[in-house]
Amino acid sequence: MYRSSSTSNALPAGIYPPELIESFAPRLIAWQRKHGRHDLPWQNTRDAYRIWLSEIMLQQTQVGTVIPYYARFLERFPTVEALAAAPLDDVMALWAGLGYYTRARNLHRCAQVVAQEHGGRFPSTVEGLAELPGIGRSTAAAIASFAFGARATILDGNVKRVLARVYGVEGFPGEKRVENAMWTLAESIVPGADASDADVSAYTQGLMDLGATLCGRGKPDCARCPFAADCVANTTGRQRELPAARPKKTVPTRRTWMLVLLDGDAVMLEKRPPTGIWGGLWSLPEAADEAALAERAQSFGGAGQASPLAPFSHTFTHFKLDIEPRVVELALKASSTSALELNDGQTAWVPLREIDAFGVPAPVRKLLDGLRGSLI
Ligand code: SF4
Repeated sequence: MYRSSSTSNALPAGIYPPELIESFAPRLIAWQRKHGRHDLPWQNTRDAYRIWLSEIMLQQTQVGTVIPYYARFLERFPTVEALAAAPLDDVMALWAGLGYYTRARNLHRCAQVVAQEHGGRFPSTVEGLAELPGIGRSTAAAIASFAFGARATILDGNVKRVLARVYGVEGFPGEKRVENAMWTLAESIVPGADASDADVSAYTQGLMDLGATLCGRGKPDCARCPFAADCVANTTGRQRELPAARPKKTVPTRRTWMLVLLDGDAVMLEKRPPTGIWGGLWSLPEAADEAALAERAQSFGGAGQASPLAPFSHTFTHFKLDIEPRVVELALKASSTSALELNDGQTAWVPLREIDAFGVPAPVRKLLDGLRGSLI
């Protein structure tokens, strides 16, 4: 019978009940086999490319959103070599709408490193995987566990929530001190050396499944949970307090003016710098205020009056962006029936119906879709 590996990664004595440390893995594995998820598109394979692709997409994004993106990526890039050989623009366009675009740039770079430096094969160890672009400690552990049967632990937001509740871990898990304590705890409960590769996969999947199904952020379904009898949060009625919330801090607001320059049914898009928000995506030209916006419009040949559209906001992790869109219409007839790239591919006239072929950030895309609807 497999056991947790508490002996190899010792916790301070007495901090958690030893029987709950010892029994965690077998109970979770048994529950996962009976009640967990078994038919997700990236399951039932040991193909590291597919597993890696899914794990990167699943960082900060829900399963239901990821499924169609995953299918489209695999259809277009069936192998790591195909992804490595694709232009970054194609990858960004296919990623548009999934958010956290650094993931897409790292995905592309990682594919190139694997294709060029590892002969198209992903490293099989957590350490080797964690050296690749975009793969942190938890993602490396997930890939190593699913693809190669490594006894490594994941520790994403879902797992932190489960551990905080089952073991009563106090403090905000985003705080380094608390996170380090959680890594020690998580490493002490992975299946022991006697676990099979299938046990290890079921364990890792079980951690994900429990956090995503029964032990969600809202009201957890404790009555169906394999840990209900011992879970600190459940037995003390502290499900809402564990894990501790992020200490409150105000999110700063920034403001930007976006230029919607129209020539017939084509809009001027500008490629954003490779780093920073929406890095490498195509967006509307921006300015810091109304006067700077008029100057930018003029530089593109637009001397007419700018008409305001309804302002809107977009919230990023660290700040809120208030957006003031202004429309300037031209009659250059510079645009043709298909997209026309200018300035070494840094700007482009794009017919509104062809926006899909460009990687455009979701809020800008929504604005342009609305505009297209009103022009038809
Ligand atoms: S008993 Fe409830 S709070 Fe505890 S781990 Fe299970 S679902 Fe989460």
